Amino acid sequence: MIYLKSLEEIELIRKSCLLVSKTLAHVASILKPGVTGKYIDQQAETFIRDHKGAIPGFKDYNGFPSTLCISANEAVVHGIPTEQEFTDTDILSIDCGVYWNSFYGDSAFTFAFPNVGDEVIDLLHATNDSLYLGIEKVKPEARIGDVSNAIQSYIEKEKKYSIVRELVGHGIGRNLHESPEVPNYGRKGFGSKMKKGLVIAIEPMVNMGKKNVRQSKDGWTIVTKDGKPSAHFEHTVAVVEGGVDILSDHTIVEKEVKNNSEIKTFTRKS
Ligand code: MG
Ligand code: MG
Repeated sequence: MIYLKSLEEIELIRKSCLLVSKTLAHVASILKPGVTGKYIDQQAETFIRDHKGAIPGFKDYNGFPSTLCISANEAVVHGIPTEQEFTDTDILSIDCGVYWNSFYGDSAFTFAFPNVGDEVIDLLHATNDSLYLGIEKVKPEARIGDVSNAIQSYIEKEKKYSIVRELVGHGIGRNLHESPEVPNYGRKGFGSKMKKGLVIAIEPMVNMGKKNVRQSKDGWTIVTKDGKPSAHFEHTVAVVEGGVDILSDHTIVEKEVKNNSEIKTFTRKS
């Protein structure tokens, strides 16, 4: 069942998404080689709870233990923050969710420490660019497959990277995961028709090597089978009259990335 949202409900989702974005921006401001996932996670949780009534959206969701999913290098998504210190060659895909005023917000960004190589930085650019190529296809009467196909075509045909098949984007609202599924691969003109009021999280997960993934022993973290790096960017967006409204905000995250000399400056090309 697809729940279409009223404009009032979309504003509440935007509020949750903006808190997610501010949390990711806060994370961007404290990242440096040597910090641990646990430290970042605690900072994020405090930041969210400082907003009255807001709670971390992922913590205890299906038993997930933390506020953030922090997935380093070959980890694709659902990484659990640990006491291990990050090094200056790591990339971190950080996914954050907030539940506030009965609605969820969901967004993710991949960060790079200063000595990450150019090849991996290109993977980050490509993944981020594919997110916006997908978002461009969102409008009333278009199909979910149009979004999926835009992402897949760019990543697999043009960039020769791989799209993860097992994990997909999703509708979002009063529940973290609602219908429809939003795969990052698919055919133009297929899938659910997007209607005004639909709110979806679009989240390409892109592997530098092969598309295959496996679950690691901790029971959560999804990693690439070939051990090569993977990147993840996510926005929550609403279908509105005439097009799309991006409810989460990466510009404030990118600004903090730029201001923090301990991480590699990484901003959108397109
Ligand atoms: Mg997410
Ligand atoms: Mg999501």
